[in-house]
Amino acid sequence: MSDPIGLFGGTFDPIHRAHLRLAQAFRDELGLAEIRLIPAGLPYHRGSGPQASPAQRLEMVRLALQGESGLCVDAREVARPRPAYTIETLEEVRAELGPTAELWFLIGGDSLAQLHTWHRWHELFDCANMAVALRPGFSLDQLPAPVREEWCARQVTDFSKRTPSGTIRPLALTPVEMSATAIRQRLAQGQDVSAELCPAVLAYIRQHGLYRKRQD
Ligand code: ATP
Repeated sequence: MSDPIGLFGGTFDPIHRAHLRLAQAFRDELGLAEIRLIPAGLPYHRGSGPQASPAQRLEMVRLALQGESGLCVDAREVARPRPAYTIETLEEVRAELGPTAELWFLIGGDSLAQLHTWHRWHELFDCANMAVALRPGFSLDQLPAPVREEWCARQVTDFSKRTPSGTIRPLALTPVEMSATAIRQRLAQGQDVSAELCPAVLAYIRQHGLYRKRQD
């Protein structure tokens, strides 16, 4: 079997330190050879769209990953001329890697609670395993019933048994109170976000005048 690979999708508007921490933790805990961060092109899962363009979000991810071993950026969703469903991306990667490759799809606990709203969400498990970063205080009661059922059915306790797809693995991480929404707001108000963003990402944001207060 080839080396295990992880996929970590997000809007990354902009990519911040909690994203990096999450990717590093997934890489280390699961012993993944590589994690591909996949910035969404035109996401379905948002009422209002991202503020930076797909190309700008892609570039910020690229900048943030410089010098990070085992983390790389995958531009496939940004390159698509239409919004991409996660299942389509997973099917594409699975077809490229072949049926026996161990593939992990990585999400945060807040995304898990929305999983049942994703297009063809049950089929995600045909393509990949799922690793979920849980916050302290997580309880099964917070999950909608259909997600809870999958959660219970797909948990493995013996982590030495590795499969190409189909399992769910929770990872407990110390929480980092950080969101791209809060960072955009602070940038718009001219506040310091140097603790939340990599220097190269912050420099890019300044250079391109991103997330400034709108004048309308
Ligand atoms: P926004 O505030 O714009 O919704 P975000 O900061 O949540 O953005 P996304 O790009 O939507 O960033 O997140 C990508 C993934 O990272 C999601 O699975 C999300 O659950 C996870 N994530 C983001 N921030 C954190 C955090 N502070 N702790 C744990 N997981 C996080």
